[in-house]
This record gives sequence, C-alpha cells and structure tokens, in this order.
Amino acid sequence: MIDWKNLGFGYIRTDRNVRSTWTDGSWSPLETTDSEYLTLHMASTCLHYGQEAFEGLKAFRGKDGKVRIFRLEENARRMIRTAEYTMMAPPTMELFREACVEAVRLNERFIPPYDTGASLYIRPLLIGTGAQVGVKPATEYMFVVFVTPVGPYYKEGFRPISVMVDRHHDRSAPLGTGWVKVGGNYAASLLSGDIAHKAGFPSTLYLDSAEKKYIDESGAANFFAIRGGCYITPKSPSILPSITNMSLRDLAADFGLRVEQRAVEFAELPSFEEVGSCGTAAVISPIGKVYDPDEGKTYTFGDGVNPGPWCVKLYETLRAIQYGEAPDPRGWNTIVEF
Ligand SMILES: *Cc1c(COP(=O)(O)O)cnc(C)c1O
Repeated sequence: MIDWKNLGFGYIRTDRNVRSTWTDGSWSPLETTDSEYLTLHMASTCLHYGQEAFEGLKAFRGKDGKVRIFRLEENARRMIRTAEYTMMAPPTMELFREACVEAVRLNERFIPPYDTGASLYIRPLLIGTGAQVGVKPATEYMFVVFVTPVGPYYKEGFRPISVMVDRHHDRSAPLGTGWVKVGGNYAASLLSGDIAHKAGFPSTLYLDSAEKKYIDESGAANFFAIRGGCYITPKSPSILPSITNMSLRDLAADFGLRVEQRAVEFAELPSFEEVGSCGTAAVISPIGKVYDPDEGKTYTFGDGVNPGPWCVKLYETLRAIQYGEAPDPRGWNTIVEF
C-alpha cells in the first residue's frame, strides 16, 4: 500500500504507460505497455543532439470523487511549440489528449485519494529516435506518456522558501531555447542548482542572460511579485511560459489585481510586498528571502517566515479548482471518465 501522505516527488512504478511512434510521416495508434524501458538506436538524435521535449501536468481526485486533469490543452500546445522549434514531429492535440487520459485511466489505483494533498503527475515525453550522425532532425520520433503519484509539496504547511541569485550561470540564452520545454535547459541548470543547494537554498534566482539587469525565473518555476494591488511577472524571451502563471494571472485579475507582464528589473526587488515562484509541482512557492551573494545582501519579504495574503489566496483558489472544490468557469479541467 502506498503511504500517500508521505510520498515525495520521485518516480514510483505504475502499471502501464502509452506510446506512439512517428514513422513515414504519421503517428501510430497508441500502444499500451507495462515495460518501463525504451529500446533505442544508439544513434538516436535525442541522445546526441538533444531532440527531446517534455511536459508536466497533474491529475487530481476531487472532493466529488471525479478525476480532473488540469489544463491538458495548454500543455499540449506548449509541447507542440517545443516540437516545432526543435524540429521534431509534434504530437497532434488529439494524440496528446488521448495519451494523457489513457495513461491516467490505466493507472487508476495510483491516483491518490482526495484529502491526502497528493496527485498523479503526468509526464509526456517526445524524443527523436531515428538514427542520424550528421546534425539534422531525425525522421522517426517516439511520444511516451507515463504517470507517477507524487506527494503534497507542502508537508509542513505552505511556507516561504529562500532563493539565491546566480549571475554566473545562465539556464538559457535570449534567443535560445528558454521559452520551450527541453531537457537541455535543465542540464544547463543542474550545476547552478547544486551550488544553491550546497549553500542551503532550495532554488536559484536567474537574471536575464544578456545584462543581468532583469529577473528571469526561479529555478524551473516562473517568478511573480505583488505590489500596490498589482500582480507583476517578467516578460522575457528566455523564460518558459508557465501554465500555472497563466492561470494565476487570470485569478489575480478576478480578485481585482492589475496584471503586469513586463521586463522586471532586479532593482525593483526591495519594493515588492510579496514574491513567489510558480509551477505545476507546488502551484506557488512563496519566497521569503532572496540572497544576493555578489552584493552580500538579503532581501526579506513580509516576516520572511509566513506567506503573504495574496500568495495564500492565489494558491488556495487554484488548488480548490484543481480538486473540484470551487467552480471552474474557464474550463481548465478535463474530467476523466472511467
Ligand atoms: C515547466 C517549467 C515551468 C512551470 O511551468 P508550468 O506549466 O506552470 O508547470 C517554469 N519554468 C520552467 C523552466 C519549466 O520548465
């Protein structure tokens, strides 16, 4: 039996996953397998030239017992954009939807019960599998969707984190791949993340790669701030458009906050009332402290220990929609039929 309340964010084997392959210009019908392994040609472009894209979304068992997948279509659109930019065959919207729904249906026993705070993480993966030695796109691709249950992000309650500024590494370049969800951006961020972890910070705060003047992202999560009745979030070509952030902007507007998506100078940081990072894993991680090692300065938000009121309200509202506790007026959830 799975101890739902003590699950972490790791990989747990589930019963089955689904796959489709692109050969001769079309996607095969979805196949189901219980194997956790892929058989790959050693010259596959995903191994050599980084033809790899992924997504991350979640299914929740609601208060009413129904299972909801949050913002499936937006995740499909983003994977299609990533595929196009990296010259891979994009899954169709229909294939993406069918694969995610099927992967959830086939693993119903792994969907955590309501009120555990846990959820079923869905991981779509797209890779170039065709053999190629010259640098060019593959002619064959594989699309895989697997699921794994993940625990509540906040075991000790909704608490702010501290992050460390890194001006010495960039996760992506201004005209590069930062705005698409590819594994290479993560490889580029591992060393920086490790430096932050060793210094006692769970995450890095990246500044824009060209000038180090603007705030980009916080680890693999988008950054936002609250000031004077305004929800402010960076607009930058090198950050990944977070679907959580997109959703929070809508909720912020519903709450009567103004929403600004624009270049955000690092120099504005001390003027913010609340700051946080957002993404599928945690919805919101309020940021209590930002440590700048180059200037030897720490910026504190609120009392640095408790989340601010807007962070709490945004977090609770989004969570309530995901668990079917609140209405879903924009149709963000896809209900899975069993
Ligand atoms: C996936 C990801 C996010 C979060 O996006 P969501 O759609 O909210 O999960 C933010 N930044 C980076 C770099 C990411 O890869």
